Amino acid sequence: MRTVPLPRSPLIDDLPTPPASTEPEGWSTDAAEDLYHMAAWGEGYFGVNAAGHVVARPDPRSDGEIDLAEVIEEVVAGGLRLPAVIRFQDLLDTRVRLLNESFSAAIAESGYRGSYTGVYPVKVNQLREVVDEIVEAGRPYGFVIECVSKAELVATLPRLESDETLCLVNGYKDEAMLRLILTFQRLGRTVLPVVEKMTEFDQILALSAEAGQPAQLGIRVKLASVAPGPWTKSGGSLSKFGVTLPELVEAADRLLAAGQGDVLRLLHFHLGSQIGDVAALKAAVKEITRIYAHLVKRGVPLEYLDVGGGLGINYDALPLGGGVDYSMQEYANAIVYAVQEICDAEGVPHPTIVSENGRAVTAHHSVLVVDVLGMTSKPSVPDGFVLEADTHPIARELDTLRRAALEAPGLGELLEIYHDAVEARQKAEALFQYGYLGLDPLALAERLYWATCRAVHDRVSAAGPGWVPPELDALGDALADQMLCDFSVFQSLMDHWALGQRFPIVPIARLDEAPTQRTRLVDITCDSDGEVSRFVSPHGKKKALEVHAPDGQPYRLGLFLVGAYQDILGDAHNLFGGVAEAHVYLDATEPSGYFVEETIPATTVEEMLARVQYFPSDLQTRVQSLLREKAQAGVIRPKEAQAILTAYRAFFARTTYLDPA
Ligand SMILES: *Cc1c(COP(=O)(O)O)cnc(C)c1O
Repeated sequence: MRTVPLPRSPLIDDLPTPPASTEPEGWSTDAAEDLYHMAAWGEGYFGVNAAGHVVARPDPRSDGEIDLAEVIEEVVAGGLRLPAVIRFQDLLDTRVRLLNESFSAAIAESGYRGSYTGVYPVKVNQLREVVDEIVEAGRPYGFVIECVSKAELVATLPRLESDETLCLVNGYKDEAMLRLILTFQRLGRTVLPVVEKMTEFDQILALSAEAGQPAQLGIRVKLASVAPGPWTKSGGSLSKFGVTLPELVEAADRLLAAGQGDVLRLLHFHLGSQIGDVAALKAAVKEITRIYAHLVKRGVPLEYLDVGGGLGINYDALPLGGGVDYSMQEYANAIVYAVQEICDAEGVPHPTIVSENGRAVTAHHSVLVVDVLGMTSKPSVPDGFVLEADTHPIARELDTLRRAALEAPGLGELLEIYHDAVEARQKAEALFQYGYLGLDPLALAERLYWATCRAVHDRVSAAGPGWVPPELDALGDALADQMLCDFSVFQSLMDHWALGQRFPIVPIARLDEAPTQRTRLVDITCDSDGEVSRFVSPHGKKKALEVHAPDGQPYRLGLFLVGAYQDILGDAHNLFGGVAEAHVYLDATEPSGYFVEETIPATTVEEMLARVQYFPSDLQTRVQSLLREKAQAGVIRPKEAQAILTAYRAFFARTTYLDPA
């Protein structure tokens, strides 16, 4: 056979060959950390131990490690069903501490004369245990809470620690909410409604006139500045939130005319979540600080400058310049220095800086662990396959191509083989449609087609890095397996479905072995969108995940950085409900280094059905009548009928996910 030398791009030719760490013989747990880019997204909180298990290191001040695979064994043995969210509660403390310390450091370094108050926006994760942990961790720093909706307000008001504890109420508020907020102000609490639109401002003034007590408030402003990113519409003049600059001036003047300039205590903007560019944030902070300065000079003694949320985290392994490439410290510095610069230029006092960071505080602390239920691979033929003599010519043609691909030709020839195989497969399908090919030869042709693709792909991969024709480059993804995982993308990974957000995914054990398969993940909903086919990588284009071949033992994947929004955005598509939870703490006195403080069972079938107005009594009565009828007709014996009813009834207490075989 003619051998064509592999054409190489001149640029690539000069690059050193990559380290052989992905080769099985050179495999190590370090190689696993590299392969799954754990350093890029894990901030040092996650790694792999010598046993090949994922570990969490939730407190960088200690060397305590929690073995995730061990935690799962323990909670599953204790009766908890997967999928489950594992919360590393210490990570909430760590993130709250780092955020506050970053601002303290920026204030100390810059000589800023105001202070900082961090606010946790509960919408990011309202779970009581999460909020409790954050409040607890934030107590030394005066870290406080922001709520938005009626339900969040009702849950938050009774939990304010003291009269001085600031509580912000953003979002649209109706009259009942405003009345409740003003009532709490009358009780002495510092609950500030942040005005989102002018009608709300009018309502607040009317209600406070009625109560004979001036209401304290904040105002959200639509700035000209915007930040690039998926949530860019949260800021800027297109935002549905906030008042315009002329409206702000009007509001301030009305308050001043009434001699009530001092009720306006806070000025706020929010650029959107996951800000990609710290320069855009700086510009917005300078813009709002100018507005603050002008209002102060006009006679409004504003106290708080609230720069919203948006501190991003790295979901990806993109190189510098892609994704979020600034640190928490850089974020804090950008804000503090920008406020200081403008205040000094305008000659106004330094306000208390407020930021509302949700994602950056909660994202790392929880991991969703799912069971793999099965794996489907592309059809193929066994090694050493020999075609039978009387096989249909189309299968013969494909088999010739397959063997040609195995014989190590050059890249040009491999491309030709691939094109011929695609054509032969199309021919086989056409022959079948017109009745010239039976089902068995068609199935064989299909297997030989994929075996050819696999052989071509293996040859191309073996050639190492270098330019590869796009068709051949795409073969790896086309050949990827499908792994069926026991979870719902719509319940647990909403932003992957809605926004294409990539989340880091890593097998929680066997990382001391080199993975040998590449796969997409599919969930158990009946929706073809219920899949994960975008994975973390330095180029942002990875469509298959490296996993291990099944070995008859449970195989579990960890889906990381799901602590912000994903936990609570969940949608009941197909009536899959909330997943189970376990809350884990570091504990140096335990031999394992941790203890599981609490487990929360998953939503049951009965609870999910109640949400759509089906109730056990009605459903069970219907099954009972059917069984009685069938027993009377002699289809089943009465005793069997009873057993069937018992089995049916037992479903109501089950979780909505599958039980592994
Ligand atoms: C959502 C939201 C936040 C939180 O944003 P993160 O990006 O999670 O920090 C803060 N403030 C407002 C007004 C929000 O709507």
